[in-house]
Amino acid sequence: MNEKLEPGLYIVATPIGNLSDLSPRAAAVLSGADLIAVEDSRVTAKLLGRLGVKRPMAPYHDHNAERVRPGLIARMAAEAVALVSDAGTPLISDPGYKLVRDARAAGIPVTTIPGPCAAVAALTLAGLPTDRFAFLGFLPSKSGARTAAIAEAAGFRGTLVFYESGPRLGAALAALAEGLGDRQAAVVREISKRFEETVAGPLSQLAGRFSEAPPKGEIVIVVGPPAEAPGATQADLDEALIEAMSRLSPSRAAAEVAERLGLKRRDAYERAQQLK
Ligand code: SAM
Repeated sequence: MNEKLEPGLYIVATPIGNLSDLSPRAAAVLSGADLIAVEDSRVTAKLLGRLGVKRPMAPYHDHNAERVRPGLIARMAAEAVALVSDAGTPLISDPGYKLVRDARAAGIPVTTIPGPCAAVAALTLAGLPTDRFAFLGFLPSKSGARTAAIAEAAGFRGTLVFYESGPRLGAALAALAEGLGDRQAAVVREISKRFEETVAGPLSQLAGRFSEAPPKGEIVIVVGPPAEAPGATQADLDEALIEAMSRLSPSRAAAEVAERLGLKRRDAYERAQQLK
């Protein structure tokens, strides 16, 4: 299995619960890497143990990244360096983007081995629209900052995805219900593990349920888009376009108004042409 890899940086996704989700390509790269940059060597040693391989590991995490990054980049010029996180896809609420940035800047080839990611897996379970979504990682733990982050997300006309922990889940759901209105949502827990569970419902109902009994395990919150605004009338459109065209070109005005009123940009642009 130890095939010789070309020098460079290899971003390797690992399972988020079920070890069978490690892809054969991920296994081949981990087996063949000259060095594996890891968040926690104990976690990755277990995974390598399951593969029956031993490879040199170097810690790469939030606390030492600045210091060790130049050395890792230097090694990539002549060796295959893999990056893994404890679980899932590196760089997604995990360290790694600066390593990729600096590797690219140094002309080092970067290859990704795609695989499990809790945010994407939760989207596939939630039964909420997936055509447009925003991933917001972990909400801030302080309530003021959390309220501000939710207010910022409230205008996005798509599905929202958050990572969360059990003890904070009830408060997070209550803050989401308060800041976003009582949207449809899903709490997705322990994906690909024995106690995998998806509970769907309005945010207020989920907040009630999970503040009484904080769940164990790893959690993703998925929140559906805002309800469609009641259709804008022709008068609303005209008024908004005339105001926007006093500041902007017709095409920029049409784009802004279409986004705000939930209309097609082409329709708003046609009307802008008639009004200008
Ligand atoms: N890089 C990872 C990924 O690709 O999903 C995420 C790392 S982040 C530090 C860890 C968070 O991801 C957990 O706190 C939880 O919110 C979510 N998570 C990870 N594994 C999960 C699972 N099996 N089920 C539900 N959520 C999970």
